[in-house]
Amino acid sequence: MPTFLCFTMEFIDLKSQQALIKDKIDARIQTVLAHGRYVLGPEVQEVEEVLAGRTGVKHCITTSSGTDSLLIALMALGVGHGDEVITVPYTWISTAEAIALLGAKPVFVDICEDTWNMNPGLLESAITKKTKAIMPVGIYGQPADMTSINRIANEHGIPVIEDAAQCYGAYHEGKPSGGLSEIGSTSFFPSKPLGCYGDGGALFTDDDELAEKMTQIRVHGQSAKHHHPVLGINGRFDSIQAAILLEKIAIFDEEIEQRNKVAQSYTKALESSSLKVQAPKVGAGNTSVWAQYTILSETPEELQGNLKAQGIPSVSYYSVPLHLQPVFTGLGYKNGDFPVTEKVSAQCLSLPMNPYLKKEEIETVAEALMN
Ligand SMILES: *Cc1c(COP(=O)(O)O)cnc(C)c1O
Repeated sequence: MPTFLCFTMEFIDLKSQQALIKDKIDARIQTVLAHGRYVLGPEVQEVEEVLAGRTGVKHCITTSSGTDSLLIALMALGVGHGDEVITVPYTWISTAEAIALLGAKPVFVDICEDTWNMNPGLLESAITKKTKAIMPVGIYGQPADMTSINRIANEHGIPVIEDAAQCYGAYHEGKPSGGLSEIGSTSFFPSKPLGCYGDGGALFTDDDELAEKMTQIRVHGQSAKHHHPVLGINGRFDSIQAAILLEKIAIFDEEIEQRNKVAQSYTKALESSSLKVQAPKVGAGNTSVWAQYTILSETPEELQGNLKAQGIPSVSYYSVPLHLQPVFTGLGYKNGDFPVTEKVSAQCLSLPMNPYLKKEEIETVAEALMN
């Protein structure tokens, strides 16, 4: 263990990435300043074309955030008061928030022991006549078991919205996340695997009708200037953010590769570790973009303290799962309802993960894990 730490390890490192592409980003921003079409300008169209291609879908509709994306998707499916939408309690609040904002009821099903994504085996029993959509999440970088979820959803004629805010860039059964169901949604919040320098998001679909609806909802339900056939929101994406995103997309695949290398180093260190921790597992048929490298420990606070003493930052995400959040008390859930979620919430610890971790930094984390 080094006596003097002469570096500060970044949990998420946006500075190194910026140093790499700053000139290109600057030039792109200057172009936007020159043309002056700040909202839904030509860069937005360009980003939508590039992302639709990457995702293997007909339509990409960028939005103002990942949360607004989910809201627009649900609105396009006509979700409203009295409806139910099935999702997971182990996710960022937005997933259930978007459902509740529309007056619909989030119905939770527990997650799998290995991937911490929606357990398809529990899905069928949560479906009722009121179920209007199923919204699985790809937590920490890998998609849910979309094959099984789609099969059950199709049998009941229920559309699936994939919340791919953390797993965009990953694959399931050889197909890109975002293009795995009726609608895919992602976020470009700066700390996501593919982020811009502010808020932003995107929706993906092959369905022409849904694409048109979502495009209208994004701009106040407008079909033509001053003509509003449906209720919408202000969900537009900024041209400067699209310009920045274009340069980030250009290096995204290399970054994913780097993230996988970091993950491999950590996993290898854990294999020869005496620590009682569970390493993350990538599900069969999946790849991961490693939004986070998260381990389970029975003593996460102690482990976090030990890591901190060695200059290693770590974070416990979603330590209070959604079914136990005060805002959702009205849903009537209680402690014990979702045992896997509750275990993962109590035990999880995410390690530094970014494509720009230096070799020495990865080794420092690996050594700390082996002790
Ligand atoms: C970040 C995130 C969102 C919301 O994205 P924003 O762009 O921050 O609104 C939704 N779902 C999940 C799973 C997320 O991680």
